[in-house]
Amino acid sequence: MIDFGYTINKDRQIDFDNADRRIIEYVAKEESTISICLICGACTATCSAGNFTDFNIRKITNMIRVGEVENLREEIKKCMLCGKCQLVCPRGVNTRNIILKINEAIKLFH
Ligand code: SF4
Ligand code: SF4
Repeated sequence: MIDFGYTINKDRQIDFDNADRRIIEYVAKEESTISICLICGACTATCSAGNFTDFNIRKITNMIRVGEVENLREEIKKCMLCGKCQLVCPRGVNTRNIILKINEAIKLFH
């Protein structure tokens, strides 16, 4: 193969073989609407916590899908459970319950 000089940095890879899937599996079982999320970002755009911090609910749901769960406990604490994200979601995803279930999963597995 031709060596074009490009490499993939280890810290930019998603290692599905060693990903921690326990949180997404728990959340998907307890709040199945996570599976119909379009990843459109409307929830993030309206998020009260996101207006004042770097909290990003869309990013968090993506992170747990690929098993990136470091700092999740600290991140999730920024959510105020106000429910605005749920009001604007075009798919009716129960985002607030997803956050509650992520909290439960963290307590169970971390
Ligand atoms: S608004 Fe709903 S569909 Fe869009 S990213 Fe958020 S949870 Fe997913
Ligand atoms: S419930 Fe949490 S994620 Fe949803 S809008 Fe409020 S602060 Fe943001």
